[in-house]
Amino acid sequence: MNDKEQIINNIQLIKQRIKNACNKAGRKAEEVRLLLATKTVEPERIKIAIDAGEKLIGENRVQEYAEKFEALKDVVCERHFIGHLQTNKIKDVLKYVSCIQSLDRIDLAEKLHQRLLFEEKTIDAYVEVNTSFEESKHGLAPDEVLEFLEKIKPLNTIHIKGFMTIGLYDADAEKVRPSFIRLREIRDIAIAKGLVSAEAKELSMGMSGDLETAIEEGATIIRVGSAIFGNRNYN
Ligand SMILES: *Cc1c(COP(=O)(O)O)cnc(C)c1O
Repeated sequence: MNDKEQIINNIQLIKQRIKNACNKAGRKAEEVRLLLATKTVEPERIKIAIDAGEKLIGENRVQEYAEKFEALKDVVCERHFIGHLQTNKIKDVLKYVSCIQSLDRIDLAEKLHQRLLFEEKTIDAYVEVNTSFEESKHGLAPDEVLEFLEKIKPLNTIHIKGFMTIGLYDADAEKVRPSFIRLREIRDIAIAKGLVSAEAKELSMGMSGDLETAIEEGATIIRVGSAIFGNRNYN
């Protein structure tokens, strides 16, 4: 298989994994969207996946959106931001994305709101939660989320659509599962308390290695990189 065939074949394999996990969980495959996590992937290779029918991509670094923008400017797809967002990059990220999945602190929310007011725009966002308690990970601690939502409620340019997490890094699905359960429970409580709208149902969780577990626990978006594009080359 050449590179193009490999990417297309990998997407089919992921679709099958989604289907199998949905069957097992009694869910419909249409309830789960596939986001292509495209960090370090060349634009020509991203385009192969988009031409094959994928319509949602996510980058981790604003700089990479900027670098790839020219090459991908004619392709129609939805663009999310899934990396750690520095406040000095807010202005730039707004040029590229319709959704920020990594809203994880109050000063970021406030500065984002100020900029959106200035641009007379709104944006969709997910609240990122560190459900694995690993220090290396970004995201609010689970017990900080409700207070955070309370504080950002007046920031009406930011439309909270759901929650995002990176599960515990472990090959054992049963060790990863509590991360995903935690995110779902946080969402349910936030909706029940009226801290977010009843439509803020999105759960962005699950990656190449743990997407089945995430789907079983309610993921509505899985973010897949290496299982489609191969191992990342950071050079
Ligand atoms: C890289 C990345 C992914 C995809 O990871 P894979 O294991 O390559 O599928 C998902 N989410 C985030 C936030 C990422 O940075």
